Amino acid sequence: MNVIRAAAIGMCFGVRDALRAAGQVDQPADVTIHGELVHNPQVLVQLQQRGFRMLDEEDRSQLPETTGVLITAHGISHCERRRLVEAGKQLIDTTCPLVRRVHEAAQRLQQDGFHVLLIGRPGHVEVQGIIEDLEHHDVIASAEDVQAWTHSRLGVICQSTTPPRHAAELLVTIEARNPHAEVRFVNTICHPTLERQYALEALCLSVDAVVVVGGPRSNNTRQLLDLARDAGTPAWQVQAAADLRAEWFTGCDSVGLTAGTSALDETVDAVEQALRSLTP
Ligand code: SF4
Repeated sequence: MNVIRAAAIGMCFGVRDALRAAGQVDQPADVTIHGELVHNPQVLVQLQQRGFRMLDEEDRSQLPETTGVLITAHGISHCERRRLVEAGKQLIDTTCPLVRRVHEAAQRLQQDGFHVLLIGRPGHVEVQGIIEDLEHHDVIASAEDVQAWTHSRLGVICQSTTPPRHAAELLVTIEARNPHAEVRFVNTICHPTLERQYALEALCLSVDAVVVVGGPRSNNTRQLLDLARDAGTPAWQVQAAADLRAEWFTGCDSVGLTAGTSALDETVDAVEQALRSLTP
């Protein structure tokens, strides 16, 4: 089968840097990863096999037992960083610079008197890290979360992996429901997310189906899948080549291939090879 790769695909620099930093740790048994380094089960198993301990991403309230603590690319709040440092922990900080940019935008808006509205997924670790430092805020996952706020200034930012179209639609809704308010939008979507989304949109115009490589807990992988389906292109998410099913591609001449920002290069290559040899 003919396979066309998206022009921008797979692992972003933020995740590569975090994995490199973990790879340079000499004594993994002395280090706890503060959540999931990447939302990729394969990588998490490899890290555990090297000896790293790992805090459950849903509950990071307990103090790690090790002195070393590795902060993931998703970042943490300033108050959480302070708590760890005051407890004597030595931090290996792999927070992505583009996540730091979201934190800075949130702080600036708050200092300028804006009520911060964060477009993102409630409970996501990146979102948690941003809102924990804010005095007041709301997290907006969908149009149903948009209210008529009493605040006269509303500052809107996005989780770094928000699909640009979703952010644009919510911004219109926020403005429509709050005509009295000054609405300031700071676009904090990271450019690797934008590139992957735009590349997939273009790809959907020239293929019969799309395969998205990525872990089930990866937010941006799920968003790539939704984007393809919203464009009317049949799409499937796989973690590995073994998940592919020939019957998905009945009647297809060409299939598009993309991958979330935490997918390993070798996994994407293996899925591509398997797709090429498939006979639907
Ligand atoms: S998805 Fe964007 S913000 Fe997140 S680690 Fe990658 S580059 Fe950084």
